[in-house]
Amino acid sequence: MYSSFEQELTKIKEEGRYRPLTVWDSAPGTWMTLNGRKILQMSSNNYLGLTGHPEMKEAARQALERYGAGSGSVRTITGTLDIHDQLEEELAKFKGTPATLVFQSGFTANLGILGSILSDQDLVISDELNHASIIDGIRLTKAKRSIYAHKDLNQLEAILQTSGSYRRKVVVTDGVFSMDGDIAPLPGIVGLAEKYGAIVYVDDAHASGVLGRNGKGSTDHFSLHGRVHIQVGTLSKAVGAVGGYMAGEQVLKDYLIHKARPFLFSTSQPPSVAAACLAAIRILQRSEDLIERLWANATYFRMSLKQMGFDTGSSETPIIPVIIGDPKRTMQFSDRMLQEGIFAQGIVYPTVPMDKGRVRFIVTALHTMEDLQFALDRLQKAGRDFGLI
Ligand code: PMP
Repeated sequence: MYSSFEQELTKIKEEGRYRPLTVWDSAPGTWMTLNGRKILQMSSNNYLGLTGHPEMKEAARQALERYGAGSGSVRTITGTLDIHDQLEEELAKFKGTPATLVFQSGFTANLGILGSILSDQDLVISDELNHASIIDGIRLTKAKRSIYAHKDLNQLEAILQTSGSYRRKVVVTDGVFSMDGDIAPLPGIVGLAEKYGAIVYVDDAHASGVLGRNGKGSTDHFSLHGRVHIQVGTLSKAVGAVGGYMAGEQVLKDYLIHKARPFLFSTSQPPSVAAACLAAIRILQRSEDLIERLWANATYFRMSLKQMGFDTGSSETPIIPVIIGDPKRTMQFSDRMLQEGIFAQGIVYPTVPMDKGRVRFIVTALHTMEDLQFALDRLQKAGRDFGLI
């Protein structure tokens, strides 16, 4: 009964891609414990260290007492509580859009939105490095799909030039790309979309709380307010809890409430989670200190790696890959980091091309200069041992 599963797992093992789950025995943070050993965490998306913020914990505690553990239903039946409504209002103010709609995660937001705005009369044009949830959202539909080379505006324009007959044309891009840490050329995309009458859809999972004033995202970063039709954000990474959302026009919110299947058919965020997200948005609105620290740390770490001679690819955000190439060597380098007391995830084919394996470092606002130096010293030594620098 299980032999076909075992065969596939054997293949994964032979390719050096088999990874049992790493089970941490401490709270998320910069130093975490793994089997009782202290490890410097350099792979989490907890960009601002908000997962353990006292105001968010307190907000979650109070909501837990008031509402209980779960929402009890999908949003469209009895699962919209006033705390969900407040979160959407506050998020809309934060994003500067008429409306927002919160989903259970960024992944379900992409599935729900793409799955409902695209039909066989429509064309979707997607960057080749877009996230799996975008790819899967598109796969749920019968839309005609065109993939353009990463950030290639010439190719995007060539596709748009021949797209006249479709009802909707939707250009989809990550705001910040999760494997390379580079930023989408949003002004160019918006310019082309306006020229050819296309909808612009940006997935800001790694830009939410990271890019733009107070972490408002890539649309704010490029001052493109009112020109990006659908902004998707996550509440699971820098915002420190879990959830996803669409920020855009009220008509889109109304449409999605009636059409987006994960919204219609899956239970809403627990109220304590919605309360924690609301507290996080207020923290972001109040101050930019954490974001400034995040960027100072990221710039220092990336520049130091470059000076040592590492290939950090096209990174321009706190996502900083050390590109190694071969999948096996990549995983060996990641293992070496762990021996040295640092957790930095190895990412290999099929997530990235076969010759583009990398160990991905993610810097956060909570890393101290000593933490970064600790990692850099060990990286330099391992880099020499592996002949990378
Ligand atoms: N989009 C992108 C670009 C992502 O990197 C991720 C998370 N890996 C998601 C969406 C999904 O977000 P969430 O974790 O909130 O489901």
